[in-house]
Amino acid sequence: MNEQWMNLSANVPQWLSDCRPYAKDGKAAAYIPALAAAPADALGVSILSADGSIIAGGESGMLFTMQSISKVFTLLLALIDNGEEAVFSKVGMEPTGDDFNSILKLELVEPGIPFNPLINAGAIAVTSLIGGASPDEKTERVLAFMRLMAGDDSLDYNRSVSESESATAYRNRSLAYFLQENGVLSPHASVEEVLSVYFNHCAIEVTCHHLARMGLILAHGGFDPLTERQLVPRRYVQIAKTFMLTCGMYNASGEFAIRVGIPAKSGVAGGILAVVPGRYGIGVVGPALNSRGNSVAGIRLLETMSVECDWSMF
Ligand code: GLN
Repeated sequence: MNEQWMNLSANVPQWLSDCRPYAKDGKAAAYIPALAAAPADALGVSILSADGSIIAGGESGMLFTMQSISKVFTLLLALIDNGEEAVFSKVGMEPTGDDFNSILKLELVEPGIPFNPLINAGAIAVTSLIGGASPDEKTERVLAFMRLMAGDDSLDYNRSVSESESATAYRNRSLAYFLQENGVLSPHASVEEVLSVYFNHCAIEVTCHHLARMGLILAHGGFDPLTERQLVPRRYVQIAKTFMLTCGMYNASGEFAIRVGIPAKSGVAGGILAVVPGRYGIGVVGPALNSRGNSVAGIRLLETMSVECDWSMF
C-alpha cells in the first residue's frame, strides 16, 4: 500500500464532509424532467487502483444516469467501428467556449460540422456513426461496450429517463435536424432514430464504482489491469482522454484543467468520470450543478484530492 493511497483512504471521509455543503450553491438539472428529483445534497466517490483496491465514500452506490459521460464511450465505439479519418470528417477537435447544447457555431463557422465529440451536436453526429442495422441494435451495441468497460453485465438504460429527455428535447432535436441539413448526418438517416439511440445511451445507469472501473481502463491506455485484456486500442483512448482534458467539463474545461489538471467528463445527472493517468479511475456523483452544468460539490472534491495528492498533469 503506497503512501498516497493511505493518505486518500484516511482523508476521503473528511474531504467528503468538507465538500458536501457546496451542493447548496447548485441545483439538479430540471430541463430533463426525470432528473429534477435527484437528491441534490448527495455526494459520493469511488477510486479504483490497478491492483483492485477501492476507496469509496458517501453515496458511491447510488444509481444515476451517465448523460454526457456516455459520450466518451460512444466516441470510442465510433472510432472502433469507423476509424479516425471517418469520424473526424464529421466532427472536429476543438473546444467551443459555448454551452454544451449551443447551436451557434454550427452556422457561424465553415464547414458546419460540430466542433468536438463531447458537445451535444458532436455527440449526436458520433452516435449516428455507431454500427448496427437498427436503433435497437445500436443501443444494444453501446450497452454491450459499456458493460465490458464497467465489468458489469447488468448495466442497462433507464427507460423513463430516456423517454423524459425525448419528450422535452427541443434543443437536441433542433441540433440534429440542423446537422442533417448540413450533411453531417447521412441524408438517409432517420434523425429521430439517431436521437433515440442518443437518449438511450445518455440514460445508461451507473454507480460511482462503474465509472471508476471505466476510468481505470482509460488510465491504463485501454488495458484493463484487472482482467489483463486490452479492451480498446491505445490510440483511441489517447484521443478520448485528450478530449476529456480540453472539452470534458464543457466551457469550464480550462478552469478545471488549472484547478484539477486531469482528464474528466461530467454529465448533467451530476456524475464525473476522472482519470489519474497510469494510476486510478475515479467516479464521483453530486447532482447539484453549477451554471455550466457541472457538479458543484463533485468538482470541489476532485480539486481537493488533486491538490492533496499532486495529481495535476502540468
Ligand atoms: N442528455 C443530455 C442532453 O443531451 C446530456 C447533456 C449533458 O450531460 N451535459 O442534454
